[in-house]
Amino acid sequence: MKIGFIGLGNMGAPMAANLARAGHEVVGFDLAAPCPAGVSSAESAAAAATGAEIVITMLPNGQILRDVANQIIPAMSAGAVFLDCSTVDVDSARAVARQAQEAGLSALDAPVSGGVGGAEAGTLTFMVGGDTAGFEKARPLFDIMGAKAVHCGPSGNGQAAKICNNMILGITMIGTCEAFALADKLGLDRQAMYDVVSTSSGQSWSMTTYCPAPGVGPKSPADNDYTPGFAAELMLKDLRLSQQAAANADADTPLGRHAADLYAAFVEQEGGKGKDFSAMLPRFEKRHRG
Ligand code: NAD
Repeated sequence: MKIGFIGLGNMGAPMAANLARAGHEVVGFDLAAPCPAGVSSAESAAAAATGAEIVITMLPNGQILRDVANQIIPAMSAGAVFLDCSTVDVDSARAVARQAQEAGLSALDAPVSGGVGGAEAGTLTFMVGGDTAGFEKARPLFDIMGAKAVHCGPSGNGQAAKICNNMILGITMIGTCEAFALADKLGLDRQAMYDVVSTSSGQSWSMTTYCPAPGVGPKSPADNDYTPGFAAELMLKDLRLSQQAAANADADTPLGRHAADLYAAFVEQEGGKGKDFSAMLPRFEKRHRG
């Protein structure tokens, strides 16, 4: 397939490289980053999109996605697929999809989980919103870049699934970290805490797969001095997107809001920037009640 790829940063570069390695003709564009091996370089976003059957975007936020959409939609051929894999707000995803559909394109929002490691290994999970025909056309590319693609319904639903999942993740990580810090103060050994909770009703992915306590449970960023992994500032981004969506949809999300406030303080005032999101545990360790 002829593929345009716009946004070749930490995630986009390995995703584009995997598509090229699988034999697709990939033309890339980024304002700053170089094209990875196998990907040929275009002069502009519009040039990368011209003549492509699928154009993939992997960009920082909704405003940039809207700007890039304005550049590439007029350059794309009718029937082509606009596949956005960035994590952006639901409103931007739906606005860009509408604009693409009005121009005779298929539009998919397909944010990912799995991080840079998943992008490199081709094991990402895609959460996809948009029309079924577009989803079927993109499926062979999801199979190369990822291990799983779930069609979540119409445009915007991929972003909705992503921010709801990550809202749960932020809340359960905070809960797991504050419980470990309480256990410390009560004299409960961390291994004993893990052994009980990992097989009891307090169990979650944050405990059993990504345990925030070093030396306990499977290997995780906690065992590597909280080097990300999934950086605290990316968790903050997703929690803010979920709060923006909740405000627009008039949904009551008190724990999601509190999680966003805690990660904002952690990232912006307490040295959490650049640390894994599970570094909430050393944050709680240092703190006192009140
Ligand atoms: P990044 O900052 O490394 O890459 C973004 C790239 O977009 C940069 O290279 C930048 O130069 C380029 N760019 C910005 N504006 C542009 C424009 N107008 N035209 C062309 N290129 C432009 O970010 P990333 O870590 O690759 O993340 C990309 C997206 O994936 C984000 O939405 C992020 O939330 C999401 N995401 C990231 C991770 C992760 O672990 N890094 C995990 C899941 C989802």
